[in-house]
Amino acid sequence: MHETQLIIKPEFVDTYKKGYPLISKESIVNSNQHIDEGSILILLDEKKKFILKGYHGVQNKGYGWVLSSNKDEKIDTTFFSKKINSAIEYRKEFFTNNNTTAFRIFNGEGDGIGGLTIDYFNGYYLLTWYSLGIYEFKSEILEALKRTISYKGIYQKKRFDSKGKYLNDDNDFICGEEAPTPLLVKENGANFAIYLDDGAMVGVFLDQRDVRKTIRDKYAKGKTVLNTFSYTGAFSIFAALGSSSKTTSVDLAKRSLPKTTEQFQINNINLKDQEIIVEDVFNYFKYAVKKNLLFDIVVLDPPSFARSKKRTFSAFKDYVNLLKEAIQITKKGGIIVASTNSANFSMMTFSDFISKAFRELKGKYEIKERFSLPKDFKVLDKFKEGNYLKVVFIKKLK
Ligand code: SAH
Repeated sequence: MHETQLIIKPEFVDTYKKGYPLISKESIVNSNQHIDEGSILILLDEKKKFILKGYHGVQNKGYGWVLSSNKDEKIDTTFFSKKINSAIEYRKEFFTNNNTTAFRIFNGEGDGIGGLTIDYFNGYYLLTWYSLGIYEFKSEILEALKRTISYKGIYQKKRFDSKGKYLNDDNDFICGEEAPTPLLVKENGANFAIYLDDGAMVGVFLDQRDVRKTIRDKYAKGKTVLNTFSYTGAFSIFAALGSSSKTTSVDLAKRSLPKTTEQFQINNINLKDQEIIVEDVFNYFKYAVKKNLLFDIVVLDPPSFARSKKRTFSAFKDYVNLLKEAIQITKKGGIIVASTNSANFSMMTFSDFISKAFRELKGKYEIKERFSLPKDFKVLDKFKEGNYLKVVFIKKLK
């Protein structure tokens, strides 16, 4: 790989030395020179003393990721092999649990390589590349993965922009045998239908595993549940498996109807008590208020950012309003499960949103539980932004 030496501005040197993994453009002296993505970056201080080694890959606001603090370490198959090995070791108990056969085995910078995640789905592996830069290492990383694990098949998603076009309409299959469609996996005993080669998303977001289990085991029994931004209905499935009296799943996307129906069916859940509505959530809230509908549990799990025909939704700007809509259709004593995967704000800010929403409606609440990323989504203490998931179970008192 091509190597480029970069001088780091003095005020940033300490941050990198202390373990901050994300290389920012603003920390680099002379950051306007052209460097190819996938180049190895040698970070030096102003006296040209070695600090760290990383690679150049453009991802959101990032310029690259740190890979090693050892000047002599080669970034090759052996390097990637070591990282993947320790990632597998850290998740050893997941591989022996027959009740859960879908989990993350490699979580980007949390496992030492920013820009790459690897998920496991019952014998199949899915690599997600978050920049062209990390994708340049594909053959070494693939070789390292094959050396470390045995697999039925390997798939990939390219989550980076190439010439203004996302590449996830490519064929995502790499090698081994192709997965059945759907591929059935288990999560805490429940079934999920997974599609490894059908667009950007595979059918389930693994980071909500503990939240789903909590809804099923502690909250759902005998309750009416409204699941907004429901996608394939994963929260509804777990509510129904926890003996909810009724679930209502609302999502704008037409595919959510057949996808959610399928998830209910493969779990032998009676469809008669499950309503699936294809509609804008904000219209549904208006309808529910007009009809005086009230729910025991309301799940809010919007995307960080979405643009529809009528409006744009940004979690940071609009979450307070979303909560206010939900509070009005939640029974007194009921639970709102408020979730966001927005990396733009902290749990503290999210708590402020909750307090603001209740204050503006002159309501009262109590926080019952909080969740962030589960164990397999390993994060670094030195990189709090990596722990993007925030979920709060709120009891509405008034
Ligand atoms: N809660 C889901 C994941 C949500 S993904 C789960 O646990 O699996 C975000 C979903 O929000 C997508 O399916 C998208 O179609 C939907 N969405 C985005 N804007 C929406 C809106 N205004 N109304 C309804 N659904 C919306």
